[in-house]
Amino acid sequence: MKLVELGTEDLARYPFLDETGEYIRGLDLSVEEITRAEYHEVLERAKSRVIDALKKGTIACEFYNREIEILSFPVALVLIKATKIEHIISRYALAEAKRVETFLLKEKRPIIPIMFERVLNIEPIKARDGFDRLHLEYKIPLVDFLKRAVQFHTTSWRLVNRVIEEGFVLVTTTELVRLLREEIYEMIRSRLKSSSVIKLDQRLRDTVDEIIRAAPPIPAKFGIFSGEYPPCVTKALELLETGQNVPHYGRFLMTAFLLHAGKSVDNIIDLYPGVPDFKERVTRYQVEHIAGLRGGRTAYSVPSCNTILSNNFCFRNHNCGTIKNPLQFRRRTKKNS
Ligand code: SF4
Repeated sequence: MKLVELGTEDLARYPFLDETGEYIRGLDLSVEEITRAEYHEVLERAKSRVIDALKKGTIACEFYNREIEILSFPVALVLIKATKIEHIISRYALAEAKRVETFLLKEKRPIIPIMFERVLNIEPIKARDGFDRLHLEYKIPLVDFLKRAVQFHTTSWRLVNRVIEEGFVLVTTTELVRLLREEIYEMIRSRLKSSSVIKLDQRLRDTVDEIIRAAPPIPAKFGIFSGEYPPCVTKALELLETGQNVPHYGRFLMTAFLLHAGKSVDNIIDLYPGVPDFKERVTRYQVEHIAGLRGGRTAYSVPSCNTILSNNFCFRNHNCGTIKNPLQFRRRTKKNS
């Protein structure tokens, strides 16, 4: 697919692209140099990027100066890395990915399939006439779709609900963008994880402290380790920890499991405040309902592995063996520990 020419406006919107590095080198600057006091506007924008990401879960899309916007991205990465806090790294990466998603959904140019090919190394093919009335504008190879659809839990991503044609799955442009968002999130997160912490002066160390103070409290962990919680429950906890949306069924399973594992309603509610749409009253009602303190006053059982699988929230690994219920995973690993 022919690449469009990317300008500085594009780099300001999509700063994770390799061209950002080339652009900065073209200015004859290193990332360390951009963090110096004379680039205070860049530092201010980098700081607001990070603080917005941590507090609101999103990053403002408006910018008044392309160069400041472009340079602020690598500086924000330096600041985030310096916190050395996993929860902050994930939350920031997700907010950057959401910002990109907002831009892409407003794009008039055919940049979405191009970006998809650049980032995922998969070329989406234009769907044939007739599919457009279903908004199925593109198709991607079945194997690539399957590899990625597993991370989504709404039924529309299940293969039985998809249109398949000769080894390809038809997708909407919005779905291409959703897949891109996940990939960009992973890309930024792994870039942060593999980068090294650079030496910061006192001014920057103060900024990092400010960032750490602005971060929402890390949800109380219930000792997530492979010998204790099954992969499905661990997945729900990880999504919560990184401020991501946990699908309805994942929340139900996690809550039922933790209640059966002896955690209190308050213990479980304490896990949620990192989630952007957290509403304590609603969460409390739901948790108390599952605990049998409201409604029919019957505590819900932990669903079977089969039921969890059919609700698309099973993340089986070899430790699951042949268990029929996640509670058996706990007993099994307890026995072995
Ligand atoms: S097999 Fe059961 S315990 Fe293991 S991840 Fe799937 S649902 Fe959870």
